[in-house]
Order: sequence, then C-alpha cells, then structure tokens
Amino acid sequence: MRTQLFIDGTWRAGSSGETFPVEDPATTETIADVASATPGDATAAVDAAAAAQSAWAATPPRDRGELLRSAWEAMQDRKQELADLIVAESGKPMDDALGEVDYAAEFLRWNSEEAVRIRGEVGVAPSGDKRILVHHVPVGVVVMVTPWNFPAAMLTRKLAPALAAGNAVVAKPASATPLTSLALADLFDEVGLPAGVLNVTPAGSSGDWFDAATDHTATRMISFTGSTEVGRGLLEVASKRVLKSVMELGGNAPFIVFEDADVDKAVEGAMLAKMRHSAETCTAANRFCVHDEIMDDFSEAFAAAMADTQVGNGRDEGVGCGPMIDAEALDRIDQLVRDAVDNGAEVVTGGERLDGPGHFYAPTVLRDVQPDDPITDEEIFGPVAPLIGFTDTDAMLEHANDTEMGLTGYVFTDDLRRGLAVSERVQQGMIGLNRGLVSDPAAPFGGMKQSGLGREGSTDGIYEFTETQYIATNW
Ligand code: NAP
Repeated sequence: MRTQLFIDGTWRAGSSGETFPVEDPATTETIADVASATPGDATAAVDAAAAAQSAWAATPPRDRGELLRSAWEAMQDRKQELADLIVAESGKPMDDALGEVDYAAEFLRWNSEEAVRIRGEVGVAPSGDKRILVHHVPVGVVVMVTPWNFPAAMLTRKLAPALAAGNAVVAKPASATPLTSLALADLFDEVGLPAGVLNVTPAGSSGDWFDAATDHTATRMISFTGSTEVGRGLLEVASKRVLKSVMELGGNAPFIVFEDADVDKAVEGAMLAKMRHSAETCTAANRFCVHDEIMDDFSEAFAAAMADTQVGNGRDEGVGCGPMIDAEALDRIDQLVRDAVDNGAEVVTGGERLDGPGHFYAPTVLRDVQPDDPITDEEIFGPVAPLIGFTDTDAMLEHANDTEMGLTGYVFTDDLRRGLAVSERVQQGMIGLNRGLVSDPAAPFGGMKQSGLGREGSTDGIYEFTETQYIATNW
C-alpha cells in the first residue's frame, strides 16, 4: 500500500513529516497513515509537472494513447486489489467497487482511442483575405482535486483525457480516500509514464495546498469534482490567476414516475438511481415525484426493495449498502429524516441509524413529504428516498426545476413521446429516460446551473484539456 507523496516519479514523505489517518468507515479503525503535503510540496509537485510538460506535449499522440492503453490493461490485472482498497477506504460494497474499477479503467481505454483524434479545422475567411486555421494545443499543467465517493473513477475521468491531450498533472485526492489514487500513481509509474507527468499529493490541509498549487505560474487549469460549496470557493481562488476551470459539482436529482410507468421497471431504476455506491453519488435520485395514481403501488414495491437491501461491511457477501463516509454524514442524514417526519412525512421503511461501530443508516422511504421540505432541497447523500405525490405535470416540473442544482434527472413513462418532451423540460445536464443509470465514459457527464462548468467523458472531455489556437495566414 502506497502512503507517501508521488512527486517527480519518486515516493517521498511530506516535507513537514506530518501524516494524517485514513479510517475504514465500516469499522472506524485507522487503516493507514498517509503523508500530508505542505504548500511547499504542492509547489514542488507543480515544478515537477512544469518540467515534464513540454516533452509530454511533444510525445506523439499515438504513444500517449498506447501508454493509456497499457494503464487500462494494468487496471484489469489489478482489479481486485484496487477494489479492496476502494472498499477499505470508502466503505462501498465490493460489487460497487469492482464496478467502479471497470468504469474508471474505461476512461483510460476511451481516451487512449481519443488521443489520436484531436481535430482542427481550416477555412477561408468570408472576406476571402486569408485562411483561418484552428487547432487545439495542450492547456499545460492541470491541478486536479477529487472527492471521496469514487476514489478511482473521479481521478481517471480527468486524468485520462488530460494525459491524452498532452498535459502534466498534479492531483490531490480527498483526505478520506487517498490510497486508491496513490495506487493509481504507482500503476502509471509501472507502465512507464515519464517522471513528473503525474504527481499525486494527498494533503491534510487542502485549502493551503490548493492556494500554493494554483498560485504557481506554471499552473494553467483546475479540474475539480466535489461539492458546489467547495467548488464555488475554488473558483474564487482560481479567478486570481484566471485559470481555466472545469467543475463537476453537487446534484439534487428529481426522479419522476408517471402513472403509465411499469412499476417493476421504475422500482428497478429507482434502486439503481438511489442505492448504487451506498447512495453516496452525485447522480443519486434525491426527490421522487410520483403520480398519485401509481403512488401506492410504487411506494410499496420500492419500500420492499429498500427493506431487502442488506446493510453492512462492504467486504461481506450480499451487502448492498455500506456505511456512510463518516459520523458527520450520518448525523446530517438522520437530522434531515427527523425534520421531514416532524413536517408530516410518513416513514414507510427504515428511518433510523443502525448499530455500529461503522456509520450505518437503514435504507429509508418517506411518503407524503412536503414539496418545500429541506430534504428536497439538500443533497441527501445517503439511503433515504423522499416521495412526493403529483397530479399536474406542469406543477410537478415547476417543483422539479425549483433548485439551483442541475446534474441529473430521471423520467419513467411508457410513452416515449411524453418521456422525451418531459426530459427536455427538466433542467438537468443528464437525463435517464426509463433508466436509473446514466454514467458512461463515452457520454458527456456534467451539470447545468450550479452543478458545474464543462463536461467530462465523451469527445467533449478531451477538448476541455486543450486551448483553441487560431492562426490567420495566406498561402
Ligand atoms: P468536498 O467536500 O467538496 O471535497 C472534494 C475535494 O475538495 C476533496 O479532495 C477535499 O479535500 C477538497 N477540498 C475541500 N475543501 C477544499 C479547499 N478549501 N480547498 C481545496 N480543496 C478542498 O466533496 P466530497 O464530500 O469529497 O464529495 C461529495 C460531493 O462531491 C457531493 O456534493 C457530490 O455531489 C459531489 N460529486 C460530484 C460529482 C460530479 O461529477 N458532479 C461526482 C462525485 C461527487 P479534503 O477531503 O481533504 O477535504
């Protein structure tokens, strides 16, 4: 297990010698003490990236792509080892962790193919006085900050296109889950990524680290995944040097079930949209808008599926919901449920903390939730599903769109024409139409409103890590 900083192709202790503990959220035991990067270490990491930048940008795209392909193969070989780390530090069930490794690896394969397909264009100016040449050059050193809920995939979703496009990277994983990112740094080192092209530096004090990393004149871009609140603050810091910024932020997904939907399919979709990765995903269904005609059937079947979900240590067979990441998250979820019940919601199943020592909460379905209850406005990030009835589509959509978040939405109906028409009116960057899962490395992932800026994945994802250059010329 790697626990040191990875800077300029070498493993080293932080310059202060300080470490911070990483906890297994299923047992609350410390599983590792990880080196904590100081602002000086952040500067050293950007120095290393800056030194490696031009040679990496000049490396033929085919070679960059083949290196990513080798990393994809190495991830396949180390799938179980990586999944074990993900379970240990994030608490998610083993099947979800194995799925995350596949998803994370796929960004490497997809971008190994995209590395050779960065296109430009040439045209004649309308006046006829010149040619307009447009091409895309690497942006330069990219500072990446990632969250704890997908320790592998949130890094590779940025790292793969950044490397494919010819950029050097300095990454800081969440302090709750640094071990998987360090293992990925090890993997890239083994497949031959040149020293300095990737630097991974966990930090106990993320604000100081970020200030130093972005203050460095070589840094040209930030790519952040995490909460909207933190993202807003990072944008402020990045504005000091007008850094290009891609932001993948929080969500508040509506899950809309019309009266003509197939109940079994809607419940299957609801379980996926709510419960994947212990309900700690940015795409998690946060508010269930269910037509009154189908409410009884949907609520009963959904509550039965939630009650059937085994809660426990993600390493144990059959577990479908692991612990919440920490005690604070558990307290916040519990409080949201208590407040909703005080405001008149009925607990159909769950509604309570479960015995520890880990941070466990019972899969919960709440009915008769008031549309303006705080639980419909806050990102729950836990296994709680608030159900709100509706009859009038326009009023329901007004409520569904009454949020500053715009990452994901779900629509279930047997009428495809209605499904598409409603999807267009839902103000979210991604819609699952009769599907509870939207994420795909080949599709543009990202949010509208305060859920983010820019897109990851697809062909869009790689262009985010380039600058567009226009050359005016005649020949
Ligand atoms: P978070 O609290 O915003 O933290 C995300 C990252 O930012 C962590 O590495 C954290 O480091 C770092 N950070 C916190 N404060 C910072 C500061 N002042 N300066 C620099 N870095 C700072 O989010 P989280 O709790 O890890 O993740 C959950 C959130 O991420 C949810 O809102 C979820 O919706 C969102 N998310 C969005 C997507 C998406 O694609 N849109 C995907 C996954 C998650 P420390 O851990 O050391 O504090």
